[in-house]
Formats: sequence, C-alpha cells, structure tokens
Amino acid sequence: MDKEPTSPKCPSCGVAGIEHFVSKESTSRSRYREPWFFVIYCDQCGHVYNVIAKHVFAQTATRVVLPNENVE
Ligand SMILES: [Zn+2]
Repeated sequence: MDKEPTSPKCPSCGVAGIEHFVSKESTSRSRYREPWFFVIYCDQCGHVYNVIAKHVFAQTATRVVLPNENVE
C-alpha cells in the first residue's frame, strides 16, 4: 500500500526531508522582543514554505465568549 510521505518536499528545488526545512524568527520584533512570525524555508534554495504568525496560536487558544459581561 502507498504510504503518505512523512517528509515535506520543496516545491521549488524538489529536496525532501524535514532537515532541509528550517524555521527562522522574524527580524522585526514587538516591544516585548517577541518575534512577530516564523518563516519556514528551504535551506537548499531559500524557497519560503510557510509563514506562521505567532498571534494565531494565542487567538485559537484563548478564544472565549463572555456574554453580557457588563450587564449591571
Ligand atoms: Zn528548495
């Protein structure tokens, strides 16, 4: 049976393997010195594979609905 390849493959140069995909923090940072986002790119050709915004993680983790919070 065919198995899903577990290694990502670069769509630009075709290199496969998680070791060729490196992540780098954004150079611009917030005042708290937190990076705004991570870039995942190919270390062989520099093709950017994905960009992950850091605040997305926090949004999905802390999305809480507070109905009628200010009702006296
Ligand atoms: Zn590549």
